[in-house]
Amino acid sequence: MKIVLTNSVGGVGMPGAVAALRAGRPALDVIETGIRPVELEPTVNSVGRGGWPNLLGEVELDACIMDGRTLETGAVGALRGFLHPISVARKVMETLPHVFLVGEGAARFAAECDAETGDNLTAESRAGWEKWLQEHVPEDVRTRWPDVPLADWARLTAVPETAGGTTVFLVKDAAGDIAAGVSTSGWAFKYPGRLGDSPVIGAGCYADNRYGAAACTGMGELTIRAGTARAIVLYMKIGATVQEACHEAAADLRSLRRRYRGGVTIHAIDRDGQPYVISVRHEGEIKYWLWAEGMETPEEKAALIESW
Ligand code: ASP
Repeated sequence: MKIVLTNSVGGVGMPGAVAALRAGRPALDVIETGIRPVELEPTVNSVGRGGWPNLLGEVELDACIMDGRTLETGAVGALRGFLHPISVARKVMETLPHVFLVGEGAARFAAECDAETGDNLTAESRAGWEKWLQEHVPEDVRTRWPDVPLADWARLTAVPETAGGTTVFLVKDAAGDIAAGVSTSGWAFKYPGRLGDSPVIGAGCYADNRYGAAACTGMGELTIRAGTARAIVLYMKIGATVQEACHEAAADLRSLRRRYRGGVTIHAIDRDGQPYVISVRHEGEIKYWLWAEGMETPEEKAALIESW
């Protein structure tokens, strides 16, 4: 069974990913093919170009990719000035002795790889940041911005309205291999240097051919604390179905002390490619896209919603 499961924000990237799968391309290529268009799409303001910036108005991008055949992985965090963090993450995995680069080092490595550069702050994402400042920060503080302590303002950004929406792809390819990939601009108006769960291997992304794969969206601080993506794969390893594993991970999240509002959506597939998506949050409908062999086109689905 060939399968791709995604939270690609409107299904962006799905047609390319499905075409790649149909052409027999390996899961890692399918992930990259699916995520790159999302990173370029300026109307998706939680991933890549057009993503909401941090409190300083800088777009800092996080991404991770994992190969379920070997458990090799690569991640970048707080990467600035490059269009495709997912491709840089893959280069980390394939060419370095390391698995995780952040900030200046990640940017230096991206340049060494001739990764495509670009200004990810669009007029719209800049306007969104300016509007947020106008609405939340008093004028006397704004005139001194950014030479002010930022912590109080970071706390103010902890509201669902400014939550992002990582793009996640989980793939089982024609050869039966599994991979996972995620990319995001993270929490809107975050504290500079903040890393979410997406690049933190085992929190926002994990894949293991023997058991399945998982990836998360939403408030990354929670899934980092619970080690959610790794936990789901581990629950499947010790015998849980994908559904049971996701509910167990949701229970782990629910047991965390939360000082801020914010939900989490868990995407998972088992080793056969059987998908399950559950959202632990109060409001709204959470959509994802699924394509499996036999489907004409990707299908839009609604995640199961559980409250906290
Ligand atoms: N999980 C991402 C983060 O915490 C954001 C999101 O998916 O909404 O950076």
